[in-house]
Amino acid sequence: MKPFESKVYLSSPTMHTEERQYVREAFDTNWMSTVGENINEAERLVAERLNRKYAVALSSGTAALHLAVRLAGVTQGTKVFCSDLTFVATVNPVVYQGGIPIMIDAEPSTWNMDPAALEKAFELYPEVKHVVLVNLFGTPCKYDEIRAICDKHGAVIIEDAAESFGAVYKGVGTGKLGDVSAISFNGNKIITGTSGGMLLTDDEATAKEVRKLSTQSRENAPWYQHTEMGYNYRMSNIVAGVVRGQLPHLDEHIAQKKAVYERYKKGLAGIPVTMNPFEEENGTPNYWLSCITVNKEAMCEQYRGDTDVTYVKEKGKSCPTEILDAMLSINAEGRPLWKPMHMQPIFAENGYVSVSGDTGADLFERGLCLPSDNKMTEEQQNRIIEVIRSCFE
Ligand SMILES: *Cc1c(COP(=O)(O)O)cnc(C)c1O
Repeated sequence: MKPFESKVYLSSPTMHTEERQYVREAFDTNWMSTVGENINEAERLVAERLNRKYAVALSSGTAALHLAVRLAGVTQGTKVFCSDLTFVATVNPVVYQGGIPIMIDAEPSTWNMDPAALEKAFELYPEVKHVVLVNLFGTPCKYDEIRAICDKHGAVIIEDAAESFGAVYKGVGTGKLGDVSAISFNGNKIITGTSGGMLLTDDEATAKEVRKLSTQSRENAPWYQHTEMGYNYRMSNIVAGVVRGQLPHLDEHIAQKKAVYERYKKGLAGIPVTMNPFEEENGTPNYWLSCITVNKEAMCEQYRGDTDVTYVKEKGKSCPTEILDAMLSINAEGRPLWKPMHMQPIFAENGYVSVSGDTGADLFERGLCLPSDNKMTEEQQNRIIEVIRSCFE
């Protein structure tokens, strides 16, 4: 099949006109700094959208997660339960604090933290008081079950909503589910500031402390007075201008991503693959990435080493590697699912709790992210669908 002339991306930034206007205003008024109207407005709009009392604009989602775990009291040696199937930025902030992440397996109905595994983890590590919970690929986790378990054990939830801004769980936006939550404006997220993130909380003291820590922990004094270690984590007013301009387009992006998901679902019907699932009765994802798993019985042999992979082609069967290669051959970008944290060499010594016999590893083996760009045309998507279908011939 003929390759696309310009690459179809997994998920690339989609700009409109307001972004340029707000960035220009920052230039024209010389607010070229980490203070300014764009920051104030972006914070106000996000807090309003998520019904949060406070939103603090930071340099990245990772910075937001770092300050969230720090303020939740994670320090040297603190054990923290973390979603296992995720991007490493969910877990690294715990390590920045000297904490010890313990990975909790995923479950098959949302690909997020398995409440049964979490329950078991509290039996194994009753001293744990912190849970870092992700909503993967924009799909809300099994929040109510997880909250009930955390309440029973007196643990706080730090919600990593980096991928799921705009997704809703039982009427509540993700980013409002955690005691403290983080969202990201990285370039490939549902909306972007080129980079950036926000910490969300309903607690005034937390919000104040985050503002202070993110600007080098300056005390209220006539000179630079410091009693605790701080960071340079504040969002720039230029980045905030892009975020501010993107915010009115969040729902439009979600609608486009939803259309992409539904076209894949329809177009891939009848071949042995399954779309990334969500619990329809519990809300709606933001459809950030469309993913599939190859059904077990239709997997050809695939061998993954630490950094390389091969597979053995078989009639009527396929695997993520073959599908990714086939998509690449027409200039369309896919990606394997996140490789679970417990399979990463960097976390080889960390605890890992599962009750299902490793759902995360199974999803990683059989799953991939499809090109999910909201600017992809129907014609392009149809060709991608055709290429995926051909892998099973
Ligand atoms: C993108 C992402 C982050 C980090 O956000 P940055 O803004 O890139 O630092 C954290 N967690 C998950 C699950 C992400 O996908």
